Amino acid sequence: MVDDMKIGIVGAAGRMGQMCVRQVSEWRGCSVSGATEVTGHEALGRDAGELAGIGNIGVPLKSDSEELVVRADAVIDFTSPAVTESHAHLCMRAGTALIAGTTGLSDDHEAALLEASAKTVIVRAPNMSVGVTLLLALTERVAGMLDDEFDIEIVEMHHRHKVDAPSGTALGLGEAAAAGRAVRLSDVKKTKRDGHTGPRTPGEIGFATLRGGDVVGDHTVVFSGAGERIEFTHKAASRVIFAAGAVRAALWSRGKSPGLYSMKAVLGFED
Ligand code: NAD
Repeated sequence: MVDDMKIGIVGAAGRMGQMCVRQVSEWRGCSVSGATEVTGHEALGRDAGELAGIGNIGVPLKSDSEELVVRADAVIDFTSPAVTESHAHLCMRAGTALIAGTTGLSDDHEAALLEASAKTVIVRAPNMSVGVTLLLALTERVAGMLDDEFDIEIVEMHHRHKVDAPSGTALGLGEAAAAGRAVRLSDVKKTKRDGHTGPRTPGEIGFATLRGGDVVGDHTVVFSGAGERIEFTHKAASRVIFAAGAVRAALWSRGKSPGLYSMKAVLGFED
């Protein structure tokens, strides 16, 4: 019989952190081995399960990231880019898998994850849900089937607290569309239109961002041709889908070779 997988949660008092504590506790085959929060956080010392509303699980919140990483088989991190980068270094040294859900990563942050993936398993996805992973795969496929006569626009809406735009998922969908067309997103990306913009540049991939209320995350990819339009929409009704995806990725990471993986690999949509 295989031991339960030990999963550490970074940022366990955060919105996603609490959701992950609940999911890891509910799923079979894993348990919460540790939970951290930033130094000085008011929740330090409190039990991660109580904070997440599931009762005491005997895991007090600490601020020692190294201890969290060393004691875990996998660490789930939904925090901020700098925190995720530092956990990538720690996971590389300890050989602990890192499930990185944080969005808004710069090229430097991405490079740090890539470096760490030479020594350990890193699963990185701007959106860990099954539905969006499928949407990514479909977007790449359809973008490759339709030519530039179909304009691609990506529309997203999130809650009023979100600090980065366009969302990591919207950018991921843009990357998928660009990959389908065999171009680089950075060469065709259009994130702002204001005032006299002139006509649309052929081949560009446009983004529109809406913010408000408590919207968990809506994404639509529009393929707009002459006389017809195709739209693929995904609407997240609960953040639980992201936490469930992260736990799935953590369980999947066991025994895998070091490398940088996406949720497509976790769900078997690619090797
Ligand atoms: P949040 O602000 O509610 O939670 C982040 C938590 O991290 C906070 O509690 C904060 O105190 C803690 N933190 C900060 N520094 C820390 C440190 N050094 N050590 C330990 N904890 C630390 O934010 P959130 O809504 O949970 O989102 C977090 C991130 O996850 C964002 O980047 C968001 O866009 C992303 N996100 C990704 C997905 C996905 O599927 N990939 C889904 C939802 C959110």
